[in-house]
Amino acid sequence: MYLQKCVDLPPQKNKPLSAKYIRSFAFPSMKDRTPIILTKVIDQLSRDKEALIDKHGKEAKEDIKTVINKLSKLKNEMTTNKSFTDITSDRPDAKIWNAELIKRSFPDGTPPNWFESDWLYAECYFYRRLKEALEQSTYLQNYDPFLECKVESFVNSKGAIIALGEHLNSVLKKVNTLSQEEIRKFLILYLKASLWGNRCDLSLSGGDAVSPDSNILAQTEKLDKFILVDKTPLVWKTLMEKKGYKILDIVLDNAGYELFTDLILADYLISSKLVNKIRFHAKSQPWFVSDVNPSDFEFVLNAVTNDLEDSTLNDLGKKWRSFLNSGIWSLEAEPFWTYFYDFDAMKENDPELYGKLGEATLVIFKGDLNYRKLMADIHWDPTTSFREALQSFHPTNLLSLRTVKADLISGLKPGVAENLTNIKPDWLLTGEYATIQFDPCDDDE
Ligand SMILES: [Mg+2]
Repeated sequence: MYLQKCVDLPPQKNKPLSAKYIRSFAFPSMKDRTPIILTKVIDQLSRDKEALIDKHGKEAKEDIKTVINKLSKLKNEMTTNKSFTDITSDRPDAKIWNAELIKRSFPDGTPPNWFESDWLYAECYFYRRLKEALEQSTYLQNYDPFLECKVESFVNSKGAIIALGEHLNSVLKKVNTLSQEEIRKFLILYLKASLWGNRCDLSLSGGDAVSPDSNILAQTEKLDKFILVDKTPLVWKTLMEKKGYKILDIVLDNAGYELFTDLILADYLISSKLVNKIRFHAKSQPWFVSDVNPSDFEFVLNAVTNDLEDSTLNDLGKKWRSFLNSGIWSLEAEPFWTYFYDFDAMKENDPELYGKLGEATLVIFKGDLNYRKLMADIHWDPTTSFREALQSFHPTNLLSLRTVKADLISGLKPGVAENLTNIKPDWLLTGEYATIQFDPCDDDE
């Protein structure tokens, strides 16, 4: 049925991505990947049933059954391209979702649907519906169906985690005697470790575990040829030029190994005195399978402190806990990150958050979904400048660390995209390539 409404075309230049273009990545993502994710959620809930009944009592049984029924219904709505329905919830965000549904309805008043809508809106709506099914329950309101796979991805990365942790510790032992050049070199190394940490994305694999290469640091140089834009020199310049108290924000992507690489970078930035404070921004609900929730952050911190039986890491964990306790680090989970909004819409719809990011010397956006939101999910001509693609979003100096997993990109030199398409037709989708893109603060121009 939905095929009648889709067109056999690639994504259209300068238009938002949408599953209605059959030859775009949004189409298989909506047709196959998202229903598979939902099937896995239902399977996970069935597997967790006994444990949930043990925890909450027999009354939970009916509750679990109701949630599974709602999710099965949601899957049916997706696969048959039904119209979206209102979010039924007392939470304040429901009004915003429901107003958007009216705004995006067809001229005859029919609400939007899975295949004809903008892909970003439809995907975000999917995760909000998942949350709706859970929050209408009695016992599963805080249940995270992706918890097990996020934990597994961390445990599977133990070797890489220990290697990275020990590397940082050996650098920090001599941090006070490092030359400026050495401080710069290690900054770039940890930025790249955090960049490649973004390859481990469970939403791309549909929740199947992805292990990082065991020693990413030894590989960073070899991987440089996959970095299509590298603006790391501007990061160094920005941090050097700005004097006084410096705040750095990291808008997180995935939990597990990637989060660990972000914490390593954050520790280095503080311990080398390049910045004074770091604010991490997580998601307030289960989101795009592997995105960091506050409880995932807590899990990684606890695992590093207690569970890895590696005293170097245990010491790092204790230090990180002290950073959090003293406010040198903070963890926030503002609601804006789990709306459908692209970042061009932030100034108008969440001026407070826009102003808060403006306090920072630099904001780092991790990963592909943040990149899509930075680009307003538009299929720009690849040579469109990063700055132009950001449209009105210029709260401060911005850095995007992204491994490329969706068919949109900006800031490439002429001919690069065409060349890659010839060599590797799916280069935009595999996470093999990456970009490190920077936009300077308006005030600094
Ligand atoms: Mg993610």
